[in-house]
Amino acid sequence: MNPGFLSDLLWPRLCEACDGPVDRPDRMICSHCLMRLPVIGQTGCCRICGRAIAGQREEFLCDDCRGRHAPAFDRACSALEFDGTARRMILDFKFNRHIWTVPDFVDLLEAAAMARFDIPAVDAVLPVPATFLRRLVRGYNQCDFLAEGLAKRIGRRFEPSALRRRNSPLRQGGLNEEERRENIVGTFKAVRPELLRGRTLLVVDDIMTTGSTLSECAKTLKAAGADRVWCVTLARSIRT
Ligand SMILES: [Zn+2]
Ligand SMILES: [Zn+2]
Repeated sequence: MNPGFLSDLLWPRLCEACDGPVDRPDRMICSHCLMRLPVIGQTGCCRICGRAIAGQREEFLCDDCRGRHAPAFDRACSALEFDGTARRMILDFKFNRHIWTVPDFVDLLEAAAMARFDIPAVDAVLPVPATFLRRLVRGYNQCDFLAEGLAKRIGRRFEPSALRRRNSPLRQGGLNEEERRENIVGTFKAVRPELLRGRTLLVVDDIMTTGSTLSECAKTLKAAGADRVWCVTLARSIRT
């Protein structure tokens, strides 16, 4: 007998989104709710930041990526819009330790990354690091779970220790675009440049808002010698 079948009988898994029974093995979102997630299509996006414009079908270059604040990463994409049920599930994962949704989230990250990147060219998968203090208070860095899961799934090396993050003067949440850009400068440090030199890196974050955190991360990785930096996030927030 399938051991999963027995444990489902004893402790039925309830869907993270609707609290109904989950009909998918080893997952925590039922197929009904999965179909209703606000998945971002990976065609008709800006070829650098991955932002989509309704009605656009071909790849384009958005005004931000053309302007003086063009991001330091080469390409980025996100799996979901940060909205509704997806937003609630991601916030529970991030702040309330709902880590059982990681396999579902890795499915979504994998689909987005496969659509946008040449996966065999990736040398290592890196999480956006958390500060020592944040990790201590929260007990974990949610991006580690996502990056490690994605690295395993696509068969690439997981590299959580190449970058370090120091405290920014302020938290990024609640700042406007300009303030976010200034607040994040100098936050990351490449502590293992030998792991980065000449490499194609895939950086994983939970939520992308203006892209300034990922851009600063990419700037640090490139200064340490990384060849290409691609970024994938679980969700993309509407700009403030
Ligand atoms: Zn459900
Ligand atoms: Zn763009």
